[in-house]
Amino acid sequence: MKRFNWVRNATTAVLVWSMLLMPLAVFGQTRIKPPKNKFKISEDVKIGREASQEVQQQFPILNDYQATSYVERVGENLVRAIPREYAHSEFDYNFKIVNARDINAFALPGGPMFVNRGMIEAAKSEGEMAGVMAHEISHVALRHGTAQATKQSNPWNQILGIGAILGGAILAGEAGAQLGALGVQAWMTKYSREYETQADILGAQILARAGYDPRDLANMFRTIEQESGGSRAPEFLSSHPNPSNRYENINREAQLLEVSRNPIQNTREFQRIQSRLRAMPRAQSMEEIERNAANNPRNNPMAKGRYTSSVSYPSSRTVVYQNGNSIQMRIPNNWKVFETQSTITFAPEGAYGDKGISHGAMVGLMQTQNRDLARATEEYVNGVIQANDYLQKRGNYTRGSLDGSQAYAITLAGRSPITGRTEVATVYTTMLRNGQLFYVVTVAPENESSRYSSAFRTMLNSIDLRF
Ligand SMILES: [Zn+2]
Repeated sequence: MKRFNWVRNATTAVLVWSMLLMPLAVFGQTRIKPPKNKFKISEDVKIGREASQEVQQQFPILNDYQATSYVERVGENLVRAIPREYAHSEFDYNFKIVNARDINAFALPGGPMFVNRGMIEAAKSEGEMAGVMAHEISHVALRHGTAQATKQSNPWNQILGIGAILGGAILAGEAGAQLGALGVQAWMTKYSREYETQADILGAQILARAGYDPRDLANMFRTIEQESGGSRAPEFLSSHPNPSNRYENINREAQLLEVSRNPIQNTREFQRIQSRLRAMPRAQSMEEIERNAANNPRNNPMAKGRYTSSVSYPSSRTVVYQNGNSIQMRIPNNWKVFETQSTITFAPEGAYGDKGISHGAMVGLMQTQNRDLARATEEYVNGVIQANDYLQKRGNYTRGSLDGSQAYAITLAGRSPITGRTEVATVYTTMLRNGQLFYVVTVAPENESSRYSSAFRTMLNSIDLRF
């Protein structure tokens, strides 16, 4: 009996030994090292969930049960095939179709994925569609969104406020047209070529494990390039730039993988859903969608305003404006208030519209890791100038105080695209204890400056910050 046991044990030992070798011998897939990431897994989930809400408000989601549940089934099958070392149980992968004609797809941190109708219509097979989805799932699993933010010197600027851009946008700039999509666009940034290669490799592995031919990922990139007609790079490639040897890398990985002898390629269901989508009325392009979103009063409450040449001067009577427990200040009683996520804008009738304000003021917060007031101010002012390229600095920064704290001021000026006259915008900044930069920007045409100076002064002196 003992001997028998000994033999059995020896057999077990041999089995274990060969199993250890197997990953090398049979599944010779490339190991991927996810990039450095400062964020917690739960932050990926939270950021993605919030951004997903925003996407669903701003982009037309296709409400077609059959098409959506088909994409969900394909997606869930791919998610189950994520190798265990890259699977985060906290992640919530979910799949929606954006009713847009462009060939695009994107995924947000923590799992929400959006596939454009144009992408499904362009794919030559289910394998190709699954290829793009596996690539996107790989970006999520490897946490490339938050890894990208980790690399930035000021990731919170990307994630929370983007106050510099947003602030500038409202200030009568062309960038104002994109106001509505900004928060989301921060997550639709361009991935590095290194991340692209990682997503291609892991994407190929996921495809093979899910029963597809990983070479269909390479085929899909070809389809995307062909569809663009060579003239204009499709949106997908601008956020997922082609690393060198993309096709070779995918095909080489495919050779290392155990691919089904009968891979899923063109399924009947794919063809049925594709014809269904193709038969629907023409979808808008993302550009059209973004333009309409910015003009939608729901996203930009100022957009319904009309600019007039005779804007009434600020009333000397003031009212108290209060925003929660955060700020209180006095403003002329003939100014309207527009609140957006990170900015509060005040403007009289005739001075606001889809291009921002021509007269009035705005206050807001910018999230910054730069606790140095001078540097944070410079960062904000540069953002304003970038978003309003007609403005230039006039003179230097001056020191002063705002609600008892050290403050900086600088005057910007230039020919306003709204009024055609010289506009003077003065930026005031101070640093809050929590490390946020608080800013005030006053705006008026230069030839009306004297009519505005006392209103601006009253407002600035009344500011009471309670952060
Ligand atoms: Zn990519």
